[in-house]
Amino acid sequence: MNVKKISHLGIAVPDIEKYVSSFKDVFGLELTGIEEVLDQKVKVAFLTVGESRLELLEPTDPSGAVGKFLEKRDGKPGFHHMALEVEDVEASLKEAEEKGLELIDKKPRIGAGGAKIGFIHPKSTAGVLTELCEHKKD
Ligand code: ZN
Repeated sequence: MNVKKISHLGIAVPDIEKYVSSFKDVFGLELTGIEEVLDQKVKVAFLTVGESRLELLEPTDPSGAVGKFLEKRDGKPGFHHMALEVEDVEASLKEAEEKGLELIDKKPRIGAGGAKIGFIHPKSTAGVLTELCEHKKD
């Protein structure tokens, strides 16, 4: 598996506008955009941190994974997942499965910004939900 860098760290929040402005103010980070990802029932905002980013996720529906995560925490925001940028998500998911990791996604799906993504179960990755992602090369 060719991991290039930490793509982003995902933080679940109940109110994206509030946390975007606080992260901008406190850390001076630049917002690169807010979009809704229907498939995952979230609104996401990306803030640039050097070569990586912070991804704030606000559920748009309580039945989604992030909605359930916040519900379990009584609505308190918190660290949700780490995302590793890889060269080829499909091949990386296959490799992870062959090595005995438990996958949430056996096949890549499309995430924020049109990236190909796939999740590995936290059981297999030291308790940290791990996303593999592949961004289109410009
Ligand atoms: Zn993510």
